[in-house]
Amino acid sequence: MSSSVSRRRLLQAVGATAAVSATGSFACASPAHAAVPPARADIGVSARPFALDQVRLTESRWLDNQNRTRNYLRFVDVDRLLYNFRANHRLATNGAAPNGGWDAPDFPFRTHVQGHFLTAWAQLYAVTGDTACRDKATHMVAELAKCQANNSAAGFNAGYLSGYPESDFTALEQRTLSNGNVPYYTIHKTLAGLLDVWRHIGSTQARDVLLALAGWVDLRTGRLSGQQMQAMLGTEFGGMNAVLTDLHQQTGDARWLTVARRFDHAAVFDPLAANQDRLSGLHANTQVPKWIGAAREYKVTGTARYRDIATNAWNFCVDSHTYAIGGNSQAEHFRAPNAIAGYLNKDTCESCNTFNMLLLTRELFTLDPNRAALFDYYERAWLNHMIGQQNPADPHGHVTYFTPLNPGGRRGVGPAWGGGTWSTDYGTFWCCQGTGLEMHTRLMDSIYYRSDDTLIVNLFVPSVLTWAERGITVTQTTTYPVSDTTTLQVTGNVSGTWAMRLRIPGWTAGATVSVNGTRQDIATTPGSYATLTRSWTSGDTVTVRLPMRVIMRAANDNANVAAITYGPVVLSGNYGDSTLSSLPTLDTSSIRRTSSTSLAFTATANGSTVSLGPFHDAHGHNYTVYWNAGGTVRLTNVGSGLVLGIQDMSTADGGRALQWHDSGTADHDWHMVADGNGFRFRNAHSGKVLGVLNMSTADGATVLQWSDNGTADHRWTLLDQGDGTYKIRNEHSGKLLAVANNSTAVGAFAVQDADDGTADNRWRVVRM
Ligand SMILES: [Zn+2]
Repeated sequence: MSSSVSRRRLLQAVGATAAVSATGSFACASPAHAAVPPARADIGVSARPFALDQVRLTESRWLDNQNRTRNYLRFVDVDRLLYNFRANHRLATNGAAPNGGWDAPDFPFRTHVQGHFLTAWAQLYAVTGDTACRDKATHMVAELAKCQANNSAAGFNAGYLSGYPESDFTALEQRTLSNGNVPYYTIHKTLAGLLDVWRHIGSTQARDVLLALAGWVDLRTGRLSGQQMQAMLGTEFGGMNAVLTDLHQQTGDARWLTVARRFDHAAVFDPLAANQDRLSGLHANTQVPKWIGAAREYKVTGTARYRDIATNAWNFCVDSHTYAIGGNSQAEHFRAPNAIAGYLNKDTCESCNTFNMLLLTRELFTLDPNRAALFDYYERAWLNHMIGQQNPADPHGHVTYFTPLNPGGRRGVGPAWGGGTWSTDYGTFWCCQGTGLEMHTRLMDSIYYRSDDTLIVNLFVPSVLTWAERGITVTQTTTYPVSDTTTLQVTGNVSGTWAMRLRIPGWTAGATVSVNGTRQDIATTPGSYATLTRSWTSGDTVTVRLPMRVIMRAANDNANVAAITYGPVVLSGNYGDSTLSSLPTLDTSSIRRTSSTSLAFTATANGSTVSLGPFHDAHGHNYTVYWNAGGTVRLTNVGSGLVLGIQDMSTADGGRALQWHDSGTADHDWHMVADGNGFRFRNAHSGKVLGVLNMSTADGATVLQWSDNGTADHRWTLLDQGDGTYKIRNEHSGKLLAVANNSTAVGAFAVQDADDGTADNRWRVVRM
């Protein structure tokens, strides 16, 4: 347990950066929120998000999640969060009770979570104007300033601010630290939280504490050799490169970029820059914040290597390491590329990783706003993983650490270290709890972007955009994804010709865009942006329809293991309190939607009816996300009515195929493994596949089972006869699967035969 402990968490606040990364053109957007714009603009950016106070969620599941997190943020006792800081900096703890879990006074990386609270309070204030959260943030900063000011009495260097002794950093630098602490991981959180209180609330005290702490980082790292620094980066350090780059942008002081680049981790960056996926075996969430930092460093330096690192990392992670729900990692680690079906365990999909991947996606989108795949991924992960991460039955919106993908899994699984089920008010304080606070206070931040005068609509959520600089209001109304349609009404100073770009997801077909009821003749290619350019009138209403259908999403490594999707939604099976020992076998042709007002579906699996619903709503019951969707079939001969099996239920190479009564033995069940345009028939009992003796091409040659070694005689093509029967043709010989001598006898052997029109040449494929 302790070996994985030293790399357990995650995050940072870089995404918040993007929200204010424009050159301050919206500083006047809302006088109520004294957002402090950055001193420097990002390089290479061709789309920008709106400020946090310009987009508001309206009634929806998203707003419900935000409100539950708001309840907790308003409830939590700041004195308890200050306990470890005050104790470490030799100040009175004012009678506050210490916390448990990852903020217990003896936990090695205590005070990692407080920065998340600062960020979440600041964001919620910026988004909603919640002054209770603003006041908690500024109060906490004032108390942290007192801790920092007492450093000489505590024996620490100027600027230090943490809940554990500075001597942990000495041990870290000397590579002798063995208590499980990940010191710069926690410092990153504190820096990011202070930055957010400065830029979203306008607290100059937060700025001053931040600059002093950053100066301390410069002091400690500036005296290390490059070799010492790289060795130290072997210990998880969060997104130090990201937050220090943000500080450079915010202040305009090049000193912070210099410090940031000391945290460029060569062992991780070098292969990514060379477009090599060497992620297998790495602690997953230790890496993602570094990638975000690379994107930030690109936007400051313009150095292509940084952009390549961030882009390649995103591509590898999303394409080769991500489950259907948009999460990655198993037991917190990356596995081999495309290893998905082999890792459907209880400890899949740590929440932090996805939160950070969303931040990375935002960073990349501003560089490449034509790449619809970015927000196709974002929507998938945001909806299926992040929205479902929070327990809707808990008024404080507590979260799960892992999202299990084992058959019969159930949300509410804590980390290996610290255990438990759901996070709690004061007893857990895991990394995922911290990033969850950030996630659910910024659910609105990626719905809309802008590129000059063009409005980009990426997500379909009930919301209101106040584009203050142009005097335009956009009101989005929808029940998506229950409905496939959303409407966007533009009001205010909309006149003139400008464009609205609408994401047309890759999963749709036949998407339409209408204005005031009139269908527009514009391209709506799936996986692209539809561009609607017109001369607008206040009140114009755009209706976007994105037809949804059931699509099976197979695991990269096993075409028979698949998740069910409907539009952007992963559908899971509700198994109540039942346990499942293996993936249920799904009859994919049986999936039916049973309601037009909800995403209720049914299907047949393991021969029984199971209810399907959106995975983000799969709470309080056991579920399965993945299915054995290849299923098994029985092959019934049309001539005899008998089924194909293996002689004496042999499991050996060379066991002969024959026909037998449908007696239910396991050797009668076959998995159809998709293979090009054909299939391999894998016997469910023996695991061997159906082939032809010696790869013969002769009429009458023996059909048998053999190890699945990839020879061409193992592939068969189904020829649909239009009456519910099939001819099954061997791809190597071109002959048909048949019964010797057209026999109808029990025990007659299977052979390959010419297509001579006899009934034994045809089979019914009966799904089990
Ligand atoms: Zn986490």
